[in-house]
Amino acid sequence: MAKKQFKAESKRLLEMMINSIYTQREIFLRELISNASDAIDKIYYKALTDENLVFDNDSYFIKVTADKSSRLLKIRDTGIGMTKDELENNLGIIAKSGSLAFKKENEAKDGHDIIGQFGVGFYSAFMVADVVTVVSKAIGSDVAYKWESTGADGYTIEECEKDSVGTEITLQIKENTEDDNYDEFLSEYRLKAIIKKYSDFIRYPIKMDITGSRPKADSENEFEDYIEEQTVNSMIPIWKKSRSELKPEDYDNFYAEKHYGFDKPIKHIHISAEGAVRYNAILFIPENIPFNYYSKEFEKGLELYSNGVLIMNKCADLLPDYYSFVKGMVDSEDLSLNISREMLQHDRQLKLIAKNIKSKIKSQLQSMLKDEREKYEQFYTSFGRQLKYGLYSEYGSHKDELQDLLLFYSSKQKKLVSLDEYVSAMPEDQKYIYYAAGESNERIEKLPQTELVADKGYEILYFTDDIDEFAIKMLMSYKEKEFKSVSSGDLGIEADDSRDKTEDGQDDSKELFEHMNGLLAGKVKQVKASKRLKSHPVCFSTDGEVTIEMEKILKSMPN
Ligand code: ADP
Ligand code: MG
Repeated sequence: MAKKQFKAESKRLLEMMINSIYTQREIFLRELISNASDAIDKIYYKALTDENLVFDNDSYFIKVTADKSSRLLKIRDTGIGMTKDELENNLGIIAKSGSLAFKKENEAKDGHDIIGQFGVGFYSAFMVADVVTVVSKAIGSDVAYKWESTGADGYTIEECEKDSVGTEITLQIKENTEDDNYDEFLSEYRLKAIIKKYSDFIRYPIKMDITGSRPKADSENEFEDYIEEQTVNSMIPIWKKSRSELKPEDYDNFYAEKHYGFDKPIKHIHISAEGAVRYNAILFIPENIPFNYYSKEFEKGLELYSNGVLIMNKCADLLPDYYSFVKGMVDSEDLSLNISREMLQHDRQLKLIAKNIKSKIKSQLQSMLKDEREKYEQFYTSFGRQLKYGLYSEYGSHKDELQDLLLFYSSKQKKLVSLDEYVSAMPEDQKYIYYAAGESNERIEKLPQTELVADKGYEILYFTDDIDEFAIKMLMSYKEKEFKSVSSGDLGIEADDSRDKTEDGQDDSKELFEHMNGLLAGKVKQVKASKRLKSHPVCFSTDGEVTIEMEKILKSMPN
């Protein structure tokens, strides 16, 4: 039996598609500019093999002009143009991508940067325009054609005049309605901002006529408007430049320009990865904690670019929670995008990039800890808590990633030390890593429980953050040394002979202890003589997993 073709109500399909795949109208400009850039790229590739074609940079550009009174927005390019057939096929068939076909044909050529692939971006113009007119003259052709459509009712094509090769797209911008304002797409200022946001790193100049104001020549307080053609985009992204070309200020400026924060970054990481997955990234460790960092409003994530075009403002999948303070961007040509180019397919590439980034951040932090201690401590004061939360979360599964990044105040060295530094400084007879928890270093110093350990000449780590003890419980041990709270029952320290007698005091003062146990029944488990006290008459100790400090914190948490 002969197979029948599906039919679709193309008008409805177009409407549905336009209104459902994009969440923001403004991206129509990104799509049209990307197409224009692709069209110029195609000339560039042609020139690689065609001796009669010379690609000189100055002749290739994209121009955006808006006219408020006629409500017309034009996007013109000096790209490869379209023949009549190409207009029919590429703009008349939804989901047909001439660019994807071109990419496939030219796969052998190196380094293609062509953006298009789905064959739907063009139609996003109908989100903001009632009529879209495309005038195009293909390379090597004498005639130009005009394609015109109001979206729903199909399109017309006719011959027309056009001097130079390339394409000019004219949008009749919609009138405002009660709910929707379209004027913004005719405002110089807004258009410039949209271009900056999405298309800043398109490799060809995107030009606009920008109105300025200047004092009139023969007068002091009269001004006149003047129009100046400006290139709006930065073109070469800083992340595509080589590290040796860039100065620290360049990174600082990028951080400020991108509004990653009002502070200065304490460190930048510039990655150019080749191999299993190709990407460029510039990451920053901020100096200050963002004001909403430890709140629910804070959203982690990196900006994600595909071939220099912004896809996502905050791609959360690129950062683990414990590095959520990291700011910056990733650009890759290897991503599988979904059709709206707003979301990604959760694919292998993205996971690989995330994994790669994670290890780069770690090694950067580690080398900072080693070589730039002061800076690291500054960082740690701001974000150390986040690392400890990371250790505690997911049942300690990030232990290997995080344990070497921790710092705690040391009783002996009177400064922050890493666990490695602690363990390396341990005397041979010391079995455990000792810690004491409390509100502040001063308070902990006065704890009677610390005396015996300190007396032995052992170092004690001071845990002053609520999370400290919980995080350490996840670690259990570091370099085969277990952690031990100074208030735990068995400290693993041999008591000196001279003090052995006190333990026997248990019998001597039997009545006293019985009396005290009676008085404190239900409040403590047992009152008994202690070996560990020196100058203090009494202290608490615990023999379970949960220490007194942890209990306090657990009790103070909302259920
Ligand atoms: P995509 O860019 O994903 O291929 P679009 O719907 O944006 O899909 O565009 C469809 C096709 O129309 C493109 O693949 C390209 O062949 C053609 N096209 C669109 N705009 C232009 C342009 N400015 N110059 C040349 N060809 C264009
Ligand atoms: Mg496109």
